Amino acid sequence: MLYLKNGYILDPASGQEGYRDILIDTESGKIVGIMPQGTPVDRAFSEEIDLNGQYIVPGLVDVHVHFRDPGFTHKEDIYTGAAAAAKGGFTSVVLMANTKPAVDNVETLHYVLEKGKETGIHVYSCANVTKGLAGKELTDMEMLAGNGAAGFTDDGIPLMDQALLREALQMAAKCGKPVSLHEENPALITNNGVNAGKAAAHYDIGGSPREAEISMVERDLRIAVEEEADLSIQHISTKEAVELVRQAKKRSKHIFAEATPHHFTLTEQAVIKHGTFAKMNPPLREEADRLAIIEGLRDGTIDMIATDHAPHSAEEKEKPLTEAPSGIIGLETALSLGIRELVNKGCLSLMELIEKMSLAPAKLYHLDAGYLKEGGPADLVVFDPNREWVVNNFASKAANSPFVGETMPGVINYTICGGKIVYRG
Ligand SMILES: [Zn+2]
Repeated sequence: MLYLKNGYILDPASGQEGYRDILIDTESGKIVGIMPQGTPVDRAFSEEIDLNGQYIVPGLVDVHVHFRDPGFTHKEDIYTGAAAAAKGGFTSVVLMANTKPAVDNVETLHYVLEKGKETGIHVYSCANVTKGLAGKELTDMEMLAGNGAAGFTDDGIPLMDQALLREALQMAAKCGKPVSLHEENPALITNNGVNAGKAAAHYDIGGSPREAEISMVERDLRIAVEEEADLSIQHISTKEAVELVRQAKKRSKHIFAEATPHHFTLTEQAVIKHGTFAKMNPPLREEADRLAIIEGLRDGTIDMIATDHAPHSAEEKEKPLTEAPSGIIGLETALSLGIRELVNKGCLSLMELIEKMSLAPAKLYHLDAGYLKEGGPADLVVFDPNREWVVNNFASKAANSPFVGETMPGVINYTICGGKIVYRG
């Protein structure tokens, strides 16, 4: 038994909030008791921690991470990715499937899930929509779902074939799994990762225009509404796409959207300042887009915050801007950016932030996570939103973050997964 006393719990599932003591069975990995502060405990416990009023919330859930394993383990592997997750307060992650080999077959799916079981956190994985992410032929989605795929995506590569997307949505709906889509039409892009606007002009290159996202989102929302299949628009980046999702949600309960911490924090100015360390797909855009994403989070248009944790090696990010790969790491700064940019600026309550970082993504992917309840999983994170830290020394293998050196609010002191402490601050 692990006894946490004098914590302040926030549970977005029940709305419960206040000072509580929590008793955890470290063997079964379940929460045994959530009790009023000071309730006498007549059971023996192996460890007692006085939280002194720190927050206890459900372990965070990130449904969009790249752990690069198999195939690109010089960037990250499942162990280091999971360590970065635990350090950032995440107890459940859903891996993207653009590995090498890709997760378009049961063998690779088993490899990532089995390796994930050795990490101490819950590692789930999407499988690919199409074989080899080639956009030509569907994977055996039923077989992959039956073998544990949490959802389907060709993330990294947009799915251009409308008929194939329709078929994929029908099959995914039959399997009870969501399809999540990276929405950028490559035909409209000169150089990806940089907004076709001030940032592209600054470097005198062609960039990625907003229409590349808008046109795909418009098409795919229409198809998903017709098919009544769960669709998640990944890493939304333009104000027009936010509005399209807002309207589509009025017609269907199957429409979902993710925003990354970097898209609600930064604009294309960051690319001018940080170069390749702020290059990502879809790119950082304009202030009006950033504000529209925050409004989308506030009014419920955007359901989830997902990091798109995308590690790359130092050598890769040292290449010229048009050659360096897109993406930044995000697991270890996500909670702090949410507190700094959304909670401390009055856009979301802390409860609402936690809901978008735990319960909402868990629901879409049908994960047993995102809530605090007696008998429920003892996955939780303990943090102090008022204490500050300086971003450095990542648990990730990579350090490609534009936030290095910044002071941020929100210090994570314990991440507990399955009743075991997997990170101590
Ligand atoms: Zn993507």
